[in-house]
Amino acid sequence: MATLVYTQFVFLLLFQSSVWGFPVRQTPQESPTCGYKSCHATKPGMLNVHLVPHTHDDVGWLKTVDQYFYGDRNDIQHAGVQYILDSVVDQLLKNPDRRFIYVETAFFYRWWKRQTDDMQNTVKQLVNEGRLEFVNGGWCMSDEATTHYSAVVDQMTMGLRFLNDTFGHCGRPRVAWHIDPFGHAREHASMFAQMGYDGFFFGRLDYQDRSRRMAAREQEMLWRASESLTPPMADLFTGILPNGYNPPEGFCWDQSCDDPPIRDDPDLEDYNVDDVVTRFLSIAHTQALVYKTNHIIMTMGSDFQYENANLWYKNLDKLIHYVNQQQSNGSKVNVLYSTPSCYLQELHRTNLTWPLKGDDFFPYADSAHDFWTGYFTSRPALKRYERISNSYLQTCNQLEVLGGPISRKGPFGAGDSETMKKAMAVAQHHDAVSGTEKQHVANDYARRLANGWAHCQVLVSNTLSSLSGSSAPRVYCEHLNISVCPLTETSKKFSVNVYNPLARPVSWPVRLPVNGTAYSISDANGKAVDSQVVPVSQATAAVRRGRGYAVNELLFQVQAPPLGYSTYSVSLLQNGAPSPQASPLPRAPKAVQNKFLRVTFDPETGLLSSLSNLETQQTVKLSQNFYWYNASDGKNSESIQMSGAYIFRPNTSTPFIISKTAKIETLQNSVVQEVRQWFSPWVSQVVRLYTDSRALELEWTVGPVPIGDDLGKEVISRLDSSINSSGVFYTDSNGREMLQRRKDYRPTWNLRQSEPIAGNYYPINSRAYIKDDKDQLTVVTDRSQGGGSIQDGSLEIMLHRRLLYDDVRGVGEPLNETSDIYPEGLVVRGRLLLSLSPPATAADTHRPLAQEVVLQPLITFTDGELHPNTRLEFSGLQAVLPPAVHLLTVSQWDQDSVLLRLEHQYQASESKEHSQPVSVNLQKLFSTLDVLGVSEMNLSANQWKDEMTRLDWKAESGEKPLPKREGDPSMWEVNLKPMEIRTFLLRVRQRVNHQPPFQNEPITNQHCSINQPIPVA
Ligand SMILES: [Zn+2]
Repeated sequence: MATLVYTQFVFLLLFQSSVWGFPVRQTPQESPTCGYKSCHATKPGMLNVHLVPHTHDDVGWLKTVDQYFYGDRNDIQHAGVQYILDSVVDQLLKNPDRRFIYVETAFFYRWWKRQTDDMQNTVKQLVNEGRLEFVNGGWCMSDEATTHYSAVVDQMTMGLRFLNDTFGHCGRPRVAWHIDPFGHAREHASMFAQMGYDGFFFGRLDYQDRSRRMAAREQEMLWRASESLTPPMADLFTGILPNGYNPPEGFCWDQSCDDPPIRDDPDLEDYNVDDVVTRFLSIAHTQALVYKTNHIIMTMGSDFQYENANLWYKNLDKLIHYVNQQQSNGSKVNVLYSTPSCYLQELHRTNLTWPLKGDDFFPYADSAHDFWTGYFTSRPALKRYERISNSYLQTCNQLEVLGGPISRKGPFGAGDSETMKKAMAVAQHHDAVSGTEKQHVANDYARRLANGWAHCQVLVSNTLSSLSGSSAPRVYCEHLNISVCPLTETSKKFSVNVYNPLARPVSWPVRLPVNGTAYSISDANGKAVDSQVVPVSQATAAVRRGRGYAVNELLFQVQAPPLGYSTYSVSLLQNGAPSPQASPLPRAPKAVQNKFLRVTFDPETGLLSSLSNLETQQTVKLSQNFYWYNASDGKNSESIQMSGAYIFRPNTSTPFIISKTAKIETLQNSVVQEVRQWFSPWVSQVVRLYTDSRALELEWTVGPVPIGDDLGKEVISRLDSSINSSGVFYTDSNGREMLQRRKDYRPTWNLRQSEPIAGNYYPINSRAYIKDDKDQLTVVTDRSQGGGSIQDGSLEIMLHRRLLYDDVRGVGEPLNETSDIYPEGLVVRGRLLLSLSPPATAADTHRPLAQEVVLQPLITFTDGELHPNTRLEFSGLQAVLPPAVHLLTVSQWDQDSVLLRLEHQYQASESKEHSQPVSVNLQKLFSTLDVLGVSEMNLSANQWKDEMTRLDWKAESGEKPLPKREGDPSMWEVNLKPMEIRTFLLRVRQRVNHQPPFQNEPITNQHCSINQPIPVA
């Protein structure tokens, strides 16, 4: 025992001496005066006006991110970020009073790496003196409606790490700054709080909400962003900016603006100082009326401004001089160069109490008929590609850790996760995954993701080769969803490797395109696996368009251990025509069922008619069909607003049905039962129930959406049930906590509803549900989508949009997606997963289900026979983690350390069984790694947890924050409470001898000899 303690102590010392170097602490010549210490003094008895010079640089929108950086394609939009940074640094050096904030690290990083040492030192000095300050600091400014928290945490971590590594603690932003996203998610506020931000500012909120808040002076508040986390853990001071993020009217001095400069030479024509001062004082006094304190903020800048920063600064210098000069004449207004954090510090010093906010800021409307609820669904194919890319990236990160150095340089060449990390970070931008960019920019985001995945594939192949001992070339099939995979279509013998990125074993149905009619399949233990061969559906053959020639699909169920893989061998037994019983029957069955669910169909229409949970013996009436809303073309007496990439505005509140009946084929065998529904040449669906599944799958295929009638169409899938939902439904926030939505209602103001459909749409990132006392129907989605519950018992989800007009919010293109393969309009395929449970236990099904959809197994193939020494099964974990625990992040940090995030995936009180604290032993986590040291960080991993001190804010309700959390049982044994995410930096060493494999001993067990020699620290 004593030896053990001593060993831990030595390891701890080792760990501290080599890992304490992070976050990088710069030791400048003089002690830095950045952060709150660098703020200009204010005047207590006066109205202090904080001028914040800033630029808003979209990480892609009308131009690609690189076109924006270089200032290329200025014919589309005049914007060049490299010139902005050149010019601002130059101007900051001319006057030490001047300030500038910079936000988007994707751009700053591009600029920084092209600078000389001299310039880099100059910029470091500006940062150390607080003259150049980073705010927000993620790789981009995320969209809030269509992003998943896992990808947001990653992109923030990447941007903030760059700032930390480059500038030390003076590079750490104090303020979150989402001035442009189109509505604000509660989960974002919760994440920002856990990332250590002291406050948050944004520009856009519903116009009715804004006017009420202005009248009540409630534009600044305390947002309590979690119902599960103990306050103040998810409390975030939140402020609404006065002019969006633009300067006040008449005070824009960018080269892109036309406002008059300050002409202050009385000897020349058009002297205007008195006029400018009078107008400015008037604006300042008016603004002060709608805020609570004697401090107000003005954003002096806008999109891609400051390319010629001299114009702005020369006029701002004069403005400050002449307005403050009036103080000698009795003016009580004091103007100063400032930053959001300096403004925040003054608000904090007032020691006031602030109104408490508990819901979110969706949906966002800027006028009565202008609801920004279309982008929840815009570009559904890109939204799915972004989501599956997140799954690929997490797998890539895990296999980089499990494989060690050989993953980056191995038998298949040089691989990396960095390319994919950057591509995913860029894709989180509020004009990327949101679908509000121009078509060529959407193509650029997708190209970056594809390139990222190509780099990851090399890494994955290297690691799987190292872990399995087989260097057989590994084949990736990315079109399995449309039954395309050249290897399985032609090979007589191949193996299937299923890698599971979750911390618990997962069972998963596999469908492989094949041309044989019978196959034998064996698992990692050589045991035969039940399989079936069924014909490829006509809908699938039509979608793949010559990209594959399989006539059949081979179906079987696979399993893989946590953070590990299992290998299945497949051999062709028989060619020729499929057996007659494999062919689908041309009629609807009365019912299909497995041991968990039973679904009935209406024999007249072919539509769903009921859903039963056989375990809980509950049944609801349930029908489902497809409809489309006619997108407004603006020719409307109420408003000329059209439906577009941002805005959803149907012409009428009644959607058009695509077909009242569906043509049906039914297929039933030992692996799956499916009812193939055909509604029209552009809408089909498969209702699918796998033998082992607790969820009913609705695989929809929509497109090309016809526009020959000159009508834009917004296509929905609508579920109508007997559930008495009383005008209420629930949606998730960024894939985590659930929020209640009530029809024609907002929790914080009296809504005047002006758009009965679009005004009741909300973002759905991973799930939505309706419920009554007995029944809860939950729908898990495979990407972010918009949806609503317009009638009681009904839940509709928008799947696809094809529009003929631009909605005049800047993108300048109708959302009318085509491609080389689909010149007549994009076809999109996806899945909705339905579960029915009593409300009290519903989370026990939908939490793991949604997790399996977000992080899906990676399937790879090798051709021919495997070498007999191949290790067929592997787990990177020593044991399964408790069901409540999700391994959110396992990612290589540097040579000896790994970033680990453990998450409790249940909300407080949503599950009797799982909404309990759980503990995890960090030393007993990995099977291939020894954990030598551990240190806890904030959520974004740019600060040690024990150094995280945030400004505290008081809510008007007067409540006191609850006592702090209890400690962990030990340094290695950590507690997780509902919805908690804990972030650790682990110092690790690859084990020379792996533990025995997780589950079953593989038949050919050579797993220890194949690893590369590991340098022992
Ligand atoms: Zn923007």
